Amino acid sequence: MLTSRPRGTNDILPGETEKWQYIEKVFHDVCRRYGYKEMRIPIFEHTELFERGVGDTTDIVEKEMYTFNDRGGRSVTLRPEGTASAVRAYLDGKLFAVPQPVKMYYIGPMFRYDRPQAGRYRQFHQVGVEAFGAESPAIDIEVVALFMDYFRELGLTELELMLNSVGCPKCRKVLRDRLQDYFRSHLSSLCENCRSRFDRNPLRILDCKEAKCREVSSDAPTLFDSLCDRCLNHFKIVREGLDELGVPYTLNPSLVRGLDYYTNTAFEVVVHGIGAQSSIGGGGRYDGLVELIGKRDIPGIGFAIGMERVLLAMEKQGVGFPSVHGFDVYVATIGKGTETYALKLTDSLRKAGLSAERDVMGRSLRAQMKYASKMAARYTVIVGDEELAREQVIIRCMDTGKQEDVHIEDIIKILLEKTTQPQGGSLSV
Ligand code: AMP
Repeated sequence: MLTSRPRGTNDILPGETEKWQYIEKVFHDVCRRYGYKEMRIPIFEHTELFERGVGDTTDIVEKEMYTFNDRGGRSVTLRPEGTASAVRAYLDGKLFAVPQPVKMYYIGPMFRYDRPQAGRYRQFHQVGVEAFGAESPAIDIEVVALFMDYFRELGLTELELMLNSVGCPKCRKVLRDRLQDYFRSHLSSLCENCRSRFDRNPLRILDCKEAKCREVSSDAPTLFDSLCDRCLNHFKIVREGLDELGVPYTLNPSLVRGLDYYTNTAFEVVVHGIGAQSSIGGGGRYDGLVELIGKRDIPGIGFAIGMERVLLAMEKQGVGFPSVHGFDVYVATIGKGTETYALKLTDSLRKAGLSAERDVMGRSLRAQMKYASKMAARYTVIVGDEELAREQVIIRCMDTGKQEDVHIEDIIKILLEKTTQPQGGSLSV
C-alpha cells in the first residue's frame, strides 16, 4: 500500500522525464515566438473561483473537483483547469493596467476526479495559453495558429482541427429557445443527464457523447443558423485568417462550450488512431469570464492541451525525440592511482558544461565500460596508470567504438568539439 500510487496518478521517472522536458521545451519556444510570457499560478484556489469560473453546470464542477477544507476551515480546490486561475491572476496582478493584449502561458498539473483509463487521469498535465484584452478576431487567428504550430513542431500528424462559433449571449438566447423547442418533443429519447440539462443548459445536450443523444442532436438547430451579424462576421474573419495561413479545419457545429461566458470561436483538436481519448486540446474565446470573476469587461481567449495525450499520440505515431544520450562523457579508470585524476577530470568536464560521470561503485574497467554503454554515454575517457604517466588518455566514441590517444591538456577542448556535433539516431517513445 505504501508503495502504490493513488489511482489516476503517474510517476514520471528518468527515461520518461526527458520526453516531458522536450515537449515542454518546444512549448516554451513556440510561445516565445508568438510573444507569450510564462505565468506560474497556484495549484489550489478558493473553491468559489472554479464554481463560478468553470461553471456549476459542468461535469468538472458537479462531479470532478478535488475539494477540501484546509485547517482554517476554508474550502479550497486543486485546480481542474487553468483558465479561471489565469483570469484571477490577471485581475489580482492588475494586468489590465498594462498595455493590452496580455499574452501568457502556463505548464503544470491539473486535477479531476474522473474514472481513470488510458489517456485519462486524476492528476494530468496541461500546457495552455490565455490572451486578455483583445476583441479582434486577429487574436483568435493567432491563438489557433500557435495551437497548431505546437503540434506541427512536435511532428504530430493526422490531426483534425474542429472549429465552431458559439456566438454571443444574444445569439445563444435565440439558439437556446430553438433548442428547447426542438428537444421538447424528444425528451424521452435523451439520457437522464441531458433531460436535466434541458432546462438548465440545453446547449450541452449537443455535447453529449451518448449514442441516443447524438442521434437526436444530429437534426437539432445549429449555432450557425442562430448567429447574429456581428458574430457571423467575427467567425468569417477567423476562418479567412486560418485559410490565409493554410491551417485546415473542419466546421463542427456541435462543438460547444455551453457556458454563458464563452463566446464566438471554439476549437478542438482530435488525433485519429489514439483510442477513445482522442481530444488532445481545445480552447476558445471567453469574453464574459473576466466580467464574471472581476466585474471588468475584458475579453479573453485561450486553449489547453493535455500533455499525457500529446505523448500518447507521439508514441502511437512513432514520432522521434531528439535527445539520445544519457550523458556526454564517462570517465573510466584502471588502477587505484588514477582515481584522484578521474575525480578532478570529471569535475573540470562538468564545469566546462558537459554532463560527466565516473565510477562510484568500485567496478572493474570491463564493468565500467558496460555501464557507460548501458547508460548511453556518448564518449568514454579511459584513464590508465601507464597512459597517465605519459600524460595521455584514451577517448572512445561509444557509438562507433573508435578510440584515440589524446594528450591530457587537450581532453576538454576535444570533447567540447565532439559533443557539439549533431548526434545520430533518435529515441522513439
Ligand atoms: P479541457 O480543459 O477539458 O478542455 O481539456 C483540455 C485537454 O486536456 C484535453 O483535450 C485533454 O488533452 C486534456 N485532459 C482533460 N482531462 C484530462 C484527464 N482527466 N486526463 C488527461 N488529460 C486530460
